[in-house]
Amino acid sequence: MDAVRIEDVIGDFVALRKRGSNYLGLCPFHADKNPSLSVSATKGIFKCFSCGKAGTAVSFIMDHEHLSYPEALRYLAKKYNIEIVEEEETAEEAAHRMKYESLLVVSEYAQKFYQDILWNTDTGRNIGLSYFRERQFTDETIRKFGLGYAADRTLSLHKDALQHGYKREYLVDSGLCIERDNGDLADRFFDRVMFPIYSISGRVIAFGGRTLSHEKTVAKYVNSPQSDIYDKSRSLYGIFQAKSAIAKADRCILVEGYADVISMHQTGICNVVASSGTALTVEQIRMIKRFTSNITLIYDGDEAGIKAALRGTDLILEEGMNVQVVLLPPEDDPDSFAKAHPRVEVEEYIAEHSVDFITFKSDILSRQSAGDPIQRARMINDIIRSISVIPDAILRTVYVETLAERFDQKSDDILAKIAELREKKRELDRSRERAERYTYTQDPGPQEAPPPGEADEPVVEEAPLTNSFLAAQERELAYCLVKFGFHQLFFPGQDASSQAVTVADYIRASLEQDEIKFENPLYRRIYDEFYSFAPSIKSGTVLERQEAMIKHFQDMEDRLIVQQCLDFVLDTHELKVKEYVRMLEPEEARLSLVVPRLVILYKKRIVEQHCARITRSIAEAEHSGDMQLQLRLIGELQTFNKIKIFLSQELAKKD
Ligand SMILES: [Zn+2]
Repeated sequence: MDAVRIEDVIGDFVALRKRGSNYLGLCPFHADKNPSLSVSATKGIFKCFSCGKAGTAVSFIMDHEHLSYPEALRYLAKKYNIEIVEEEETAEEAAHRMKYESLLVVSEYAQKFYQDILWNTDTGRNIGLSYFRERQFTDETIRKFGLGYAADRTLSLHKDALQHGYKREYLVDSGLCIERDNGDLADRFFDRVMFPIYSISGRVIAFGGRTLSHEKTVAKYVNSPQSDIYDKSRSLYGIFQAKSAIAKADRCILVEGYADVISMHQTGICNVVASSGTALTVEQIRMIKRFTSNITLIYDGDEAGIKAALRGTDLILEEGMNVQVVLLPPEDDPDSFAKAHPRVEVEEYIAEHSVDFITFKSDILSRQSAGDPIQRARMINDIIRSISVIPDAILRTVYVETLAERFDQKSDDILAKIAELREKKRELDRSRERAERYTYTQDPGPQEAPPPGEADEPVVEEAPLTNSFLAAQERELAYCLVKFGFHQLFFPGQDASSQAVTVADYIRASLEQDEIKFENPLYRRIYDEFYSFAPSIKSGTVLERQEAMIKHFQDMEDRLIVQQCLDFVLDTHELKVKEYVRMLEPEEARLSLVVPRLVILYKKRIVEQHCARITRSIAEAEHSGDMQLQLRLIGELQTFNKIKIFLSQELAKKD
């Protein structure tokens, strides 16, 4: 990280001109006409003043080259000729990695094997290749997607594989072969044309095999089972071939089957993937989100296609992405349509027939409920429910206007319904959270360490402010840690010889005193990370140590933390503490007033939240006629009110 010079890194992709202490260039993340990208060499960050994109050298490489965090680090190390010494693995890790790698190797071998049969044997050419050519796939396309043919038992994969020294264990674990009860090996795929499924980085992870037999007893498709290298809910067919086209077009077209993807590519439309073999999952949507936030669903116009599209839209909206739907003529699917029309016509059709989800839903639902007022009301409610899951408030409002206009409704009524739905959902989340916390305090033992695999699951959340009542306060405290954690506080009457207290010490001591932990997961991660990293920053002035901490946050893998930290540094968040700090002089004196005030305010908010909960419970107890519970709760409420008054008095002292 120390060797990286951000102006060099970005300069490899963007022509930069020096302007004062910064550099300016055309932003590669939007269609930039005047240079809007500013690169600060001293701070090690970039920011686009048009589209708002900001980050460090690492996040620039991740976004621009579509690399993961470790991949970006390797890229930078290579650029600066730094050898990366990978951490020594435990025996278990090494075994796991070896197995993983071995499964990939055996899958790659199988892909070559099936491909070889397709092109270089009589059976392959006569059956497999002629089938693909009949479907009008060009040889170039067949090679681009690595298609192959699994022949009958005379050309079996497992015999060839064992001869070439591939372990039987991996043949079975990759799902390529099946072990019979008597111990014999058998191929999973035979008499089928083979579609290899690639990972996002282009490794073969699984296969889909389609039969050419017309017998009803033979399954049309056989797919690889789940394995260490293949999780179908986290894979998209065609993502490797489509990813750069998706980023370039800033749109991903989602279709249903392998042939749909291939025919669209062949016609020249390459930003296309399929969720084949499974209904669209959240994980698949998030994979697309790495490249674009716009999805167009192109499904068959038949009943099954419409159902799949309806299910997909809500999931996509919930992930904060934009969704459009295109229905093809009922007799067509994307495969046949792309073959029957040249690229321009397909693109024109998509452009003309793309509709937003409100139009799509209302068209479909009104077809089913023509003239029935009850059905109509149900349909409107259904659309309102879809709008309510959209995380972004402005976008919600836009859709509310559309809906109001189209169905001649009052937008205020719709907004009220949405607020109600969102409140219900929040309430549900809260009670779930409460229940979790209850289990936690009852039995902290087994809960302490999250089960393996879940710990590194990214936390996806709404904008923190709307997420939690306390989030605003927690953000201010996190801001104080990141920007001023090493600064010292001075209190009136404190004599010069007494140990100085830093902002970080003060915050931690005051929260631990009342056993308070941040509720918001993002701020909690920042908080924990601060205190676990701080001891390793030993030398330097206060400012130097603070800068080292900021740099540490900016270079982390967790994108949410990096973004939040950049927002703090670039002052893009509205923060109350900023106003105070500006008003008061000198800095240490300001902090000594501001930080304690923030802590008290935060505690007061916690107490207020408790009071609100108790008040609700009292109402519920009254409703159910439980006098005893009601009395107990009132007692609790009185105690909390006393604490609230005490905190208000403390707060007044600080003003
Ligand atoms: Zn930009």
